[in-house]
Amino acid sequence: MIADAERKLGSKAVITDPKDIEPWVSDWRGRVHGASPAILAPGSTQDVVEIVKLAATHRVPLVPQGGNTGMVAGATPPADGSALLLSMRRMNRIRSISADDRLAVAEAGVVLATMHEAAHDIGMRFPLTIGSRGSCTIGGLTSTNAGGTQVLKFGMMRSLIAGLEAVLPDGSVHSGLSGLKKDNRGYSLDQLLIGAEGTLGVITAVALRLVPAVAARAVVWAGVDSPQKALELLRFLEARTNAVEGFELVPDDSLQLVLKHIPGTRPPLGGDHPWNVLIEATTDDPAADINAEVERLLAAALEAKLISDAVIASNEAQAEAFWRIRDAISEAERAEGQTLAHDISVPVADMPRFIVEASKDVEARFPGVIASAFGHLGDGNVHFHVRAASHASPDWYETEGEKITQMVDDLATAAGGSISAEHGIGQLKRDEFERLAPPGRIHALQAIKHALDPEGIMNPGKLVP
Ligand SMILES: Cc1cc2nc3c(=O)[nH]c(=O)nc-3n(C[C@H](O)[C@H](O)[C@H](O)COP(=O)(O)OP(=O)(O)OC[C@H]3O[C@@H](n4cnc5c(N)ncnc54)[C@H](O)[C@@H]3O)c2cc1C
Repeated sequence: MIADAERKLGSKAVITDPKDIEPWVSDWRGRVHGASPAILAPGSTQDVVEIVKLAATHRVPLVPQGGNTGMVAGATPPADGSALLLSMRRMNRIRSISADDRLAVAEAGVVLATMHEAAHDIGMRFPLTIGSRGSCTIGGLTSTNAGGTQVLKFGMMRSLIAGLEAVLPDGSVHSGLSGLKKDNRGYSLDQLLIGAEGTLGVITAVALRLVPAVAARAVVWAGVDSPQKALELLRFLEARTNAVEGFELVPDDSLQLVLKHIPGTRPPLGGDHPWNVLIEATTDDPAADINAEVERLLAAALEAKLISDAVIASNEAQAEAFWRIRDAISEAERAEGQTLAHDISVPVADMPRFIVEASKDVEARFPGVIASAFGHLGDGNVHFHVRAASHASPDWYETEGEKITQMVDDLATAAGGSISAEHGIGQLKRDEFERLAPPGRIHALQAIKHALDPEGIMNPGKLVP
């Protein structure tokens, strides 16, 4: 198949040097290591069609990959080298962008930060943003239905997509880029492919919704006593303004890790605060004074004893420094040592109780571990991470990991929540998904997968049990 691909697509599209393959066969956290004899790197939708047809003929599975920043090893090939990586990073053109239509059509390999810049250049904005924006791609974001820090106002990737183009497992092209507001021709293939983690086809381009550029933003770092106070603060603000679009919970433990491991970071507030929130409020009205509005609201919140202290970033550099702290938490944890990541959601109102009780329960049952919950409180989504004790053995993941994860997932499920709020299932959560999801849901997934990909060439072993 590799020789056939080289003949059809040219050597530019086929990478076989092990040195060039090696950086892409392990997941971002370095927990899962795969192998692939080659990376296929298509430059166009037609190239993808050729590759998918070859894969069907040779019965060689394909593992689509964007920036390889996913958290569930969905883009990591199996270790036996039986699959080929399909890197979408060469397909990185913005095919069109229009402020009038409020739409951009970006190829799958466009990096999120590049998309942000392109929208900014025409006075618009693509509002989804996440810590991996310098590497993650539009195709990966779509395939994982990524969330991020502005979900509160703009929803997840799904709500920012007007349509998409994809190559289906039989080699046919689904063209849904017209951006039609009304199109009721039955099942939506676009919606099926969003969040499918590369198991139903290869996304080649996406029509993205744009919103007006931000005229000004106020970025606040505030100290709070508890997750409950943080949620009360959010509701307090929401009752008085619709400017809040980001609201992130950061425990002191995460802040300290970032200060320890990430050069150039410093604490935004003096004093000790067991919990912090990072708030972003924006306006697209150039005449509005967002800082004055936020300052007034914070004064009222201080008086209502919802916050213990707060600071508004005095300029863009300081605003970026606050966000850097939030965005670097995973990186700092990785530097600290072994961490089990759980991306869970429970109903928003129950989140403060869940964070406090589940942390206590996990730390009691597994002495020495540190449970640390941070993230998107306003969406009912928290990254509930559990760090190994400093004296833990190097095989802690294998010996304790599964038991701890099962406990966290059981607690989230018992609270009516989800074991995957925004990272997807990939290979890391597949067993847990199968263990805890209602059988009807699993059956429907299997039926859809089999109907569209009967040969099982699209990212087998991921998502679908
Ligand atoms: C520091 C950091 C912070 C993060 N923060 C968040 C966050 O706040 N919210 C969030 O949701 N995620 C977050 N993530 C996870 C990750 O960035 C997202 O899941 C992102 O969408 C992955 O994009 P990618 O291009 O790297 O995809 P990859 O990791 O390459 O792939 C992810 C999945 O999509 C499939 N895929 C990729 N491209 C295609 C394609 N063109 N067609 C079909 N399938 C494809 C892959 O097979 C795989 O299953 C974070 C990651 C990091 C490292």
